[in-house]
Amino acid sequence: MTQATERLDNEAVTPEEEAQILDSVRKWLARDVKPYARQLEHDDVWPAEMVEQMTELGLFGATIRRAYGGLGLGASTYSRIVTEVAEVWMSLSGIFNSHLIMASAVQRFGTEQQKSRYLPQFASGTLRGGLALTEPDCGTDLQAIRTRAVHDGEHYVINGTKTWISNGIHGHCVAILVKTQDIEPRHKGLSMFVAEKGPGFTVSRKLEKLGYKGIDSAELIFQDYRVPAANLIGGVEGKGFVHTAGGLELGRINVAARGVGVATAALKAATGYAQIRKTMGKPIHQHQAIALKLADMATRTEAARLLVEQAARAYDDGRRCDMEAGMAKLFATEAALENATEALRIHGAYGYSKEMDVERYYRDAPLLCIGEGTNEIQRLIIARQLIERNPV
Ligand SMILES: Cc1cc2nc3c(=O)[nH]c(=O)nc-3n(C[C@H](O)[C@H](O)[C@H](O)COP(=O)(O)OP(=O)(O)OC[C@H]3O[C@@H](n4cnc5c(N)ncnc54)[C@H](O)[C@@H]3O)c2cc1C
Repeated sequence: MTQATERLDNEAVTPEEEAQILDSVRKWLARDVKPYARQLEHDDVWPAEMVEQMTELGLFGATIRRAYGGLGLGASTYSRIVTEVAEVWMSLSGIFNSHLIMASAVQRFGTEQQKSRYLPQFASGTLRGGLALTEPDCGTDLQAIRTRAVHDGEHYVINGTKTWISNGIHGHCVAILVKTQDIEPRHKGLSMFVAEKGPGFTVSRKLEKLGYKGIDSAELIFQDYRVPAANLIGGVEGKGFVHTAGGLELGRINVAARGVGVATAALKAATGYAQIRKTMGKPIHQHQAIALKLADMATRTEAARLLVEQAARAYDDGRRCDMEAGMAKLFATEAALENATEALRIHGAYGYSKEMDVERYYRDAPLLCIGEGTNEIQRLIIARQLIERNPV
């Protein structure tokens, strides 16, 4: 499905409905998440109750078309939800976002049979999962993947290892990128399948992380795992790289939206603390060194928000937006990292304490610069687009 047809479908959602959904999410965050997030994160506990609540709110179907039981939200509203959730606890946004990137591969590129089989289950959260691209020896260079699928009658047999897979432990399935042929160019030998857990598909270990706790990141092993040939997304071999690239614009807008959430949280914490902490007889925001930091943090946050809105609007309008999504991802995630660092410094020793949330922002933010294409790669994409769009 093209972005334009996605947009038409999503026009069924009225602004009033969107406002209502946003309002429900805000109330849920204030009531059921904010009071508990710090402890759950500290203990690195998978938030089962919150996942249940996210299911009830429809978040696992947020961008899935209404025809398949989803909320049918466009990128603009969805990215606002992601920002709000990430402002309270970034890991929660990862749980439904990774799932929706998997769903988006089926929604945009799946056969009718695959859509009607999987999308309602994805939308209701009965079948949750993520996207399995990365391997121990490759992340950025996906064309170098080694996990292989060999056609065998009604099935393909998959062997290989995937790593860093979000929702890998608690999810039920993944959209997996595999090699089906050794050909040049290499990307034409890649295919994508929906792989449900079963014999031969095992979780070998949970990966321990600096931040982004609560959500499970896992290494997955596929050993003579048999996936039905009917699960080859789109029904044709060799399209896996296209399916992956097709989800990147939206994926990058969503990571950027998370960046705005973390940048906002850090800004709010610093703005509040700077008014109550006094040194030399006055609140620290009255010291110019701190005031300048706050001004820069606020400006970065607003600029990031506008870049995300611009990219999401372009996406919803069906316009090509790889440059806009890349800029939003680059700027918003660096803004999150800078704001988190400055918030920690403004809090002095308390910023280093486990009793405050700013240390969590400081641990969560760097991930945003790595996922969905590192920020080094975003710069390369932006530069390439710049030249392509401005030939002399
Ligand atoms: C918490 C977490 C969750 C994740 N979730 C998932 C998931 O759900 N599914 C999934 O598939 N993956 C996931 N990943 C993996 C993530 O997508 C990869 O880590 C990312 O793509 C980078 O790949 P890499 O780590 O192999 O780094 P590499 O590709 O080895 O890159 C190393 C460094 O070299 C730079 N570099 C690489 N190539 C170039 C180039 N051509 N030009 C300039 N610089 C370059 C990179 O920017 C980086 O700084 C997750 C990772 C983490 C940490």
